[in-house]
Amino acid sequence: MSTMQTLIDKLANKRDLADAELLELITSTDEATNQLLAAAADKIRQQYYGTKVYIRGLIEFTNYCKNNCYYCGIRAGNSHAHRYRLSKEQILDCCSEGYQLGFRTFVLQGGEDPYFTDERVCDIVAAIRRQHPDCAITLSIGEKKRASYQAYFDAGANRYLLRQETAAPEHYAKLHPASMSLANRKRCLFDLKAIGYQVGSGFMVGSPYQTPENLLADLRFLQELKPDMIGIGPYITHEQTPFAEHKSGTAEQTLRMLSILRLMFPYALLPSTTALGTIHPNGRELGLKAGGNVVMPNLSPVNVRKLYELYENKICTGEEAAQCRGCLEARVRMAGYEIVTDRGDVAKNVI
Ligand code: SF4
Repeated sequence: MSTMQTLIDKLANKRDLADAELLELITSTDEATNQLLAAAADKIRQQYYGTKVYIRGLIEFTNYCKNNCYYCGIRAGNSHAHRYRLSKEQILDCCSEGYQLGFRTFVLQGGEDPYFTDERVCDIVAAIRRQHPDCAITLSIGEKKRASYQAYFDAGANRYLLRQETAAPEHYAKLHPASMSLANRKRCLFDLKAIGYQVGSGFMVGSPYQTPENLLADLRFLQELKPDMIGIGPYITHEQTPFAEHKSGTAEQTLRMLSILRLMFPYALLPSTTALGTIHPNGRELGLKAGGNVVMPNLSPVNVRKLYELYENKICTGEEAAQCRGCLEARVRMAGYEIVTDRGDVAKNVI
């Protein structure tokens, strides 16, 4: 048996490895290792979730943001970005359309937009909760005070997505301006857990200045946080950012990290991201085969989709929600899995 297969088996059995062993997997560039990892990850995923793939309806409701993360296309400093906000009525329309298409989770995602005060967010969340009592409501609107998170939760939100992006402080400082801190990001994540949200975190793969040790730090941080969902995607360069000259991450490295995550966190909900589909024509299918079990089609109105441009050349910006749903259904089926239309809560019973 190859050394890599031995390491992978050990990871599958123990859900953990020593730092040096994990680094060996993280830095492997051998395609055969990726395939061994994907096969082991798929086996674990089938044990926990069968062939089920959960769908989350993504509503990108504002591309205003007060922050200036160096990698992000909608950062405040990008004066070329065309800004938009959806009204409460537009958001509710997206949810209704999504509900008819079988979505039972809505993800409201946006930049850190001061227009959306706690009062406005709570009003929107409460309205969705009233209209769709059987659905999960996920927020992804950045760093807030604990009291704000509590207010959204009390209004009816169940889940919150906030990627740490990198868990290494020195790397974090290279990706963000001094006004932002990893300590505050972590504080937010632990506050969200303490309140009772199902929490999603995650990181970029191949971001500027990232080292293998940074990726190891991400895995170690996730072991500490124990999130319900882990979203990772390749870093993709955006021209209107300070990182315009940096190279994008690769599908290979992202798939490798996805499989490692499935082996370390068998119960987790792992999206096969749009970013992965953007850098590789079959990225989302490959992501499912490498351990992913969630896809997040876009429910935002077509006329604003291109404007929510965190990175360039994003796919699926031209299709109506129903077309997106149909296209993904076919892709998921071709990969050997099936979309299911329940809320898709984390498999807590098997942790
Ligand atoms: S990554 Fe998020 S917080 Fe940072 S600039 Fe972009 S939208 Fe704002």
